[in-house]
Amino acid sequence: MRALIIGVGQCGTKIADLFALVDFEALAINTSRGDLDYLKHIPHERRILIGEGLTGGKGVNANPLLGREAMKRDLPMVMRKIGSIIGYEDIDVFFLTFGFGGGTGAGGTPVLAEALKEEYPDSLVVAIGALPLREEGIRPTINAAITIDKLSKIADSIIAIDNNKLKESGDDITKAYERINYTIVERIASLLALVDVPGEQTLDASDLKFVLKAFGSFATIGYAKADANKVKSLSRLIMKSFENEGLYLDANIESALYGLVAIHGPPELLKATEIFEALDYLTNKIRGKQIFRGFYPDPREREVEVVTLLSGIYESKSIEEIVLTAKRYAQSFMKAKKEAEAKKKKLLSGLPDFDDIYP
Ligand code: GDP
Repeated sequence: MRALIIGVGQCGTKIADLFALVDFEALAINTSRGDLDYLKHIPHERRILIGEGLTGGKGVNANPLLGREAMKRDLPMVMRKIGSIIGYEDIDVFFLTFGFGGGTGAGGTPVLAEALKEEYPDSLVVAIGALPLREEGIRPTINAAITIDKLSKIADSIIAIDNNKLKESGDDITKAYERINYTIVERIASLLALVDVPGEQTLDASDLKFVLKAFGSFATIGYAKADANKVKSLSRLIMKSFENEGLYLDANIESALYGLVAIHGPPELLKATEIFEALDYLTNKIRGKQIFRGFYPDPREREVEVVTLLSGIYESKSIEEIVLTAKRYAQSFMKAKKEAEAKKKKLLSGLPDFDDIYP
């Protein structure tokens, strides 16, 4: 299974940089030279500055129109670079990481996703984006809503991470982001690390691709981990990984179409009866009734780790809140704009021109 992580914008490149730290193939794309310099693990030749003629390497100041334009202008250069990294061996999944609320990521990611789909039709394009915090205000919410709409028409799945949900109250924002980014990478890396690995029941790349090929709907990753000697019930641990606090997104998991569960731990704990009991329960719970499974007994392991992926989700409070807030704002803004135009017209109508007064 070969994945290429492409970070776009500040948030996206920070997340991609962590993927590089745990040995994933990753590259970084940004309009800000300073933000690219700040990365630690992605090699310099894999950091791409876009839109230099547009912004002078200074970023787009959270303006997605500029982010889109920067990506469009430099797309041939970006695609050449990606082609040179890929070489002759196919990519199974492109993971595009970005922040939904900013400019470079929000504007540029849909453009890049479309180009990748066109050039690599057999590879999946999965967007991994952080949703803005409520306290960031209306612009990030609007950027997010529009980007959700665009990506839902291009990407195979959108793994949305609700920053609100992962930010513990009282956390300093930089620390919160850092922790959120680690959590994202840890979970996705744990999942990918188990694909194609020999086990009692093995998940292969085609299972993962099947689950992620979900017509641009939402996907979410759950996780549960416990010391082997503290696990009282494995089925409880599996279910916990599906529960809301384990997920990145406030979503109704029952609306999911597909699921995938990977369980890794000491052989004496991975009891088939308990695993099947939990998986049967969960299979019946989701609307699509299909759950792929992989069990990986490992005698060296002292912990039990469960990673779950649910896809085809279309009911999510996190997403609804963003889209409805953006729509309400857009409606009231358009109304206010119309009123201002009408008022201006009324106030200024009937004024003479200079030549009427100064013959
Ligand atoms: P861009 O460089 O113009 O694409 O803008 P950013 O990447 O800074 O995107 C800003 C949005 O991403 C904001 O809405 C933030 O909530 C979110 N964000 C920024 N940095 C991080 C980060 O490191 N982690 C997470 N999870 N979210 C981030």
